[in-house]
Amino acid sequence: MASITLQNIVKEYDDGYPAVNNVSLEIEDGEFVILVGPSGCGKSTLLRMVAGLEDITSGELLIDGERSNEKQPRERNLAMVFQNYALYPHLTVYENIAFPMRLTKGKFSDDEVDERVRRAASMLELEDHLERKPGNLSGGQRQRVAMGRAIVREANAFLFDEPLSNLDAKLRGQMRAEISQLQRRLGTTSLYVTHDQTEAMTLGDRVAVLKKGELQQVASPRELYEQP
Ligand code: ADP
Ligand code: ADP
Repeated sequence: MASITLQNIVKEYDDGYPAVNNVSLEIEDGEFVILVGPSGCGKSTLLRMVAGLEDITSGELLIDGERSNEKQPRERNLAMVFQNYALYPHLTVYENIAFPMRLTKGKFSDDEVDERVRRAASMLELEDHLERKPGNLSGGQRQRVAMGRAIVREANAFLFDEPLSNLDAKLRGQMRAEISQLQRRLGTTSLYVTHDQTEAMTLGDRVAVLKKGELQQVASPRELYEQP
């Protein structure tokens, strides 16, 4: 895991209007930061710049202390967790988790792949589901498979892009609890984007509030809660 540092990050799209304006934020190694704000405030633009899917207009992005503005997504080694988790429906849980290691041909022996998959599955309590296909899993289990994939390739951090926004209220509550438990257990550096206040106040170590592209404040949920 690694730290992620944003220094005076700006994003101007072609219209010249800044979608993200002068954002500075330090996410420490192992910290879980929530980026919250209304639709259109620039959350996904910011996340996509960190992931390397969108160019940074100006400012500096450091991953583990290294300037990363121009690095390819693959070199940044960040794991995106989306709403749909992007699992392969025709592959088993085992093969879904092993997938990133199969891509880097020759780097991992079959024994190593097996050991890493089983270790991740045990951390995530998926040992009993390795032969199942994603279609037969619960939402929470699918999310864990997606995280397992990130664990085996030893990603620097997780980037969550509104992973719960399509779920009904009950499932969302369950998944919130699950993510929060996992986070405590795994201690993975995470940046989690949401427009949901409840997620923001219950999941993170710190909450960064974005409004019209600018960071309004960064505080712990408790500090935010106790504000007048
Ligand atoms: P959020 O994720 O908070 O809903 P976005 O990052 O998607 O916000 O959008 C922030 C602002 O940037 C919005 O005004 C949006 O219209 C604009 N925007 C987003 N993507 C593009 C794009 N590809 N081209 C031009 N403007 C964009
Ligand atoms: P893998 O899924 O095994 O990471 P990919 O070739 O799909 O392999 O991705 C390579 C790198 O690019 C990874 O670091 C991944 O996080 C990043 N990446 C790929 N697609 C996306 C995406 N849609 N959003 C964010 N990062 C991505």
